[in-house]
Amino acid sequence: MDIQVLVVDDSSTMRAIVSSVVSNCGYTPVPAASGEEAIGLFRQHRIDLVVMDVEMPGINGFETCRQLRKLSEDWFPVIYLSASSSDEDIIEGLDAGGDAYVAKPINDRVLKSILTAMGRIAIIQSKLDQANKRLERLATHDSLTQVLNRRGFDEILERCWRQSQREQTVFSIILADIDFFKKYNDHYGHGPGDECLHQVAQCLKSALLRPGDQIARYGGEEFVILLAQTDAAGAEEVAQRLQTALAKTAIPHDQSEVADHVTLSQGIADSQHRDGMLDILKAADDALYQTKRTGRNGYACARPAA
Ligand SMILES: [Mg+2]
Repeated sequence: MDIQVLVVDDSSTMRAIVSSVVSNCGYTPVPAASGEEAIGLFRQHRIDLVVMDVEMPGINGFETCRQLRKLSEDWFPVIYLSASSSDEDIIEGLDAGGDAYVAKPINDRVLKSILTAMGRIAIIQSKLDQANKRLERLATHDSLTQVLNRRGFDEILERCWRQSQREQTVFSIILADIDFFKKYNDHYGHGPGDECLHQVAQCLKSALLRPGDQIARYGGEEFVILLAQTDAAGAEEVAQRLQTALAKTAIPHDQSEVADHVTLSQGIADSQHRDGMLDILKAADDALYQTKRTGRNGYACARPAA
C-alpha cells in the first residue's frame, strides 16, 4: 500500500528534512507550508498520515488537526513536531486529535521509528475499511446476480419513500417475474437456471438508463425495479424497454408457453396516494398477478390509489 503523508511545516528546511525521512520509510510525502494549505490538500488528496509542525503562522498545528478531524470520519494518525514539549503542550495536542508528539530538534531515527509505527496502524485501518466495504456489499448484494438483494433494496426504498414524502415527488416500482422459470430449471438444470438469472439481471440493469434507477433480486426469480421521480406512465415506458431488451437478449426457453425465449411478467405501481411502502409493493404485486393471469410476457399498471 502506498502511504501518502501530509508533511506540514512553515519552514522549508524542516519540510525537506521531514520529507526525506518520510521517503526513507517508503512513504510518499505531500508537503504543505501552512495549516491552511494542509487543509486544502487534505480535501483534494487521499491522505493516510499527517506529520505536522505545531508553531506556524496562521492556524497552528493543534487547530489544523481539529479541522482535519472534522473533515473526515475515517481515522488517520497525526504526529506533531514541536519545539515546546511541556506536559501541557502534549496534553493539548493529543486532546485536539493528535496521536503522537515528537520534540524538536528532531532526531531522524526517532521520527522514522514513530512514522513506521503509525504507518503500521494506518495500514491496519485501511484494511479494516476495505473489509467493512466488502462486508457491506455482501450484506446488500445478491452474490449470484450481482445486483442488490432484498435487504439492500429495502434500504433504498425506505430512503426513496422518505424523500418523496418530504419533497412531494412520485416514484414507481416494477415487480418483474421470469415466466415459467420452474420449467426452465426442470428442463435445463440448476446451473443453467442460475446463469439465466444472472443474464436476466444484467440485461435489465443495463436497460435502466438513469443512474438513480435501481434493480434488486427480490426473491427466487423475481426482481424489483425502483424508478425515482417517475410516475406510472413513465414506468410503463421502462417496462416496455425491459421487455424489448430481454427479447433481444433472446435466452432460449423451450418450455415457455408464451415465447421461444425467456420473458417477464411485470407489475407497476407508483407512490401517488399510497399509504406506505408496503402499500406500493402490494399494488405492484396485484398488477403482476394480473399480468400473469392475462397471458404473461407483458406488464400491467396498478389502479391509481384514491
Ligand atoms: Mg514552525
